[in-house]
Amino acid sequence: MRRLYIDFDGVVLDTIPPLYEKLGIDTSGVDNGSAEEKIQKFANYDYRNVVKDKYILNDSINCIKKLLDSKRFEISFLSHVHSLDEAIVKTKYLRRHFKDDTTIIIVPGKISKTKMVHSEGAILVDDFSSNLREWQEAGGIAVRFNQELESKGFKVIDKLDQLLDMFDENGDEIC
Ligand SMILES: [Mg+2]
Repeated sequence: MRRLYIDFDGVVLDTIPPLYEKLGIDTSGVDNGSAEEKIQKFANYDYRNVVKDKYILNDSINCIKKLLDSKRFEISFLSHVHSLDEAIVKTKYLRRHFKDDTTIIIVPGKISKTKMVHSEGAILVDDFSSNLREWQEAGGIAVRFNQELESKGFKVIDKLDQLLDMFDENGDEIC
C-alpha cells in the first residue's frame, strides 16, 4: 500500500469560493487588504458555514471510499487550518463520513505540509501548486486536483477515483 495524503479545501470540498465570498475577499487579483488581514479573517471565520455536504467536489467522498476499497492506499487527510475551531469542524465533518479507516492530520497555516509528515515516496493530492512543489522537492509524488485539468506541470486529476488509473494494485505508478 502506498501512503496517500489528501488535501481538504479545493479537493474534498469546494470551500474556497463560498469562503472568499462570505469574507468579502476578492479573487480577481485586486489587492483588497494585507495578507495578515486575510489570515485574521480566516482565523475568525465560522467554518460550519462552508464545511457542508453541498460543497462536495466531484463526488469526492464516494471516490475516497472507492480508493479505500481498492486497498492500494493508506489514506490520510492533510489540511491547513487557521484556527482550532476550523480544525474541529473539519475533523468532525470527515469523521462523519469516515469512521476509523483514515487518518486526519491538521497543519498550522504557516507550516509546510512536508514538515508534518514523511513525504518521501508518498502521494499528495492538492489543488495548490506551492504545496505540490514543496512536496516534490521533499521526494514525494505530487498530483494536482483541478476542475479544469490545468496541470501547472504536475500530474493532474479532476476526480479522486482517477488515482486508480495512475497507480496499480501495489500503489506503484503506472507508466
Ligand atoms: Mg487546498
